[in-house]
Amino acid sequence: MCKIHSLKESSMHTDILISGAGAAGLTLAIDLARRGIPFLLIDQAPAPFAGSRGKGIQPRTLEIFEALEVADRMIAAGGPYPVQRHYRADGGHDDEAAVQSVAATPSEPYGQPLMLPQSLTEGILRARLAELGHAPHYAHTLSGFEQDDCGVTARVQRTGGEIEVRARYLIGADGGRSFVRKTLGIDFPGESLNARAVVADLTLSGLTRDAWHRWGKGANQISLCPLQGTQLFQLQMPIPLEGEFDLSDAGIAAAIAARTGRSDIVVDAVHWRSDYAMSARLAERYRVGCIFLAGDAAHVHPPTGGQGLNTSVQDAWNLGWKLAAVLHGADAALLDTYEAERREIAAGMLGMSTRLLDAARAGDLRRGREQQQLDLGYPDSSLSLDERDDDAPLRAGYRAPDAPLTGAGGQPRRLFSLLNSGEWIMLRYEADTPAVFSARRGLRIVTIGERGELRDHAGHLRDAYGLHTGDIALLRPDGYVAALTHDEHSPALATYIEKLVG
Ligand SMILES: Cc1cc2nc3c(=O)[nH]c(=O)nc-3n(C[C@H](O)[C@H](O)[C@H](O)COP(=O)(O)OP(=O)(O)OC[C@H]3O[C@@H](n4cnc5c(N)ncnc54)[C@H](O)[C@@H]3O)c2cc1C
Repeated sequence: MCKIHSLKESSMHTDILISGAGAAGLTLAIDLARRGIPFLLIDQAPAPFAGSRGKGIQPRTLEIFEALEVADRMIAAGGPYPVQRHYRADGGHDDEAAVQSVAATPSEPYGQPLMLPQSLTEGILRARLAELGHAPHYAHTLSGFEQDDCGVTARVQRTGGEIEVRARYLIGADGGRSFVRKTLGIDFPGESLNARAVVADLTLSGLTRDAWHRWGKGANQISLCPLQGTQLFQLQMPIPLEGEFDLSDAGIAAAIAARTGRSDIVVDAVHWRSDYAMSARLAERYRVGCIFLAGDAAHVHPPTGGQGLNTSVQDAWNLGWKLAAVLHGADAALLDTYEAERREIAAGMLGMSTRLLDAARAGDLRRGREQQQLDLGYPDSSLSLDERDDDAPLRAGYRAPDAPLTGAGGQPRRLFSLLNSGEWIMLRYEADTPAVFSARRGLRIVTIGERGELRDHAGHLRDAYGLHTGDIALLRPDGYVAALTHDEHSPALATYIEKLVG
């Protein structure tokens, strides 16, 4: 039994304290806000981050942003990746696609990554959070914490002094140098990749905005990418591992002139700049008791695959519904699946980004299906129950595909519209018997078929899920397949629902 914790005068209680209002912290905050979970989101920075850094939003992340009702505004604010233009020594150039882009399909509504500078992405997330009645508290620094069996007591520094925050859970979404990770003493093994680079946002004249301009290979390469949704170009270039690099406006202009060999590219202003050393590291643990790590706090890697922000958003997306479910009374063991599912994904992403860094060093960086994150899933998770044959086209744990459907009255519907509710969804395919399970909090039971509430006239759902008459597909609140069975009376399904759903 937890005793009431006595707090200092300047103190507050909440369910969840999120330290860090970057992409991971904001995504988690929106998900908790829409689920009605009390939380406090703090950030030590005095104001929102203003640079372009993570400018690529992958198709899987767009699906998540659709569920959070921000995808359309992000697409309106950003745009597609332009071609990469490689300039040759003779002054000519060769164009090639920077990213793989395919047409949307019924099961994958977003066929290509979106380019949107990170500051704009985070601004749209903050606007959504404001619509839900919340805002990050800037200039609030987490400076210490202790945990007991019932929660965490944290100290937060802000103008006017320290406050104490008592929370059931603390989430360290506080970036690669995570204070939470260091304070917990969690190892962060990995390697330094012997690469250092500059990234900067500039306005300039002399270049068209229809291509990502690239010059050179190896240590002397440089690229200038027009940032969709702005008048800016993002500069990226490797710099020597040791020593000071001149990041002044004049220093950056001189580096551009030297590496491009062009005097017609004139820098008007440098709006943001940063230099960073690349490494690939993965936290040994994502959880200690009531405290979790999410985003760059748990994994850092080179930016080459355009994966960091996306993986951070998806960490938060995996954690949000589980925290809400446990706070609503679900088995607390559900929270163990967060590390089990997400750490393995990050380990794979680290290897891939490092391989792409080698390709980028050779001036040959291309991004394809692997970077789109649509094929990532959790088939080995304890949350995946599969009673179908191994050769079925879809397995429990995989991403739940979308499917255009028709409402009983003939109106167009999409499976994702159901999933976007953040509930568990049980699909009963062409079932003509009464449902075995009854409605409960957080579980929506939907019958598909001629006498059901939704119709699959074109067979998109059937094909994507490999469904037959009487089959059941249970979908998780985060849009992955929880359970697949031919038998609605399956004892394993009943146990699953009793333990985890509602
Ligand atoms: C050049 C470059 C290009 C990139 N390109 C891409 C790309 O194309 N696609 C992609 O997906 N990713 C990309 N990334 C990576 C991406 O920027 C990061 O992975 C992403 O910002 C991680 O988000 P986060 O929320 O986990 O952490 P962060 O964005 O680092 O946010 C952490 C927040 O925690 C706050 N904080 C820290 N300590 C405390 C404390 N003690 N108390 C309170 N607050 C604290 C910080 O102020 C910060 O706001 C790129 C990165 C770089 C450098």
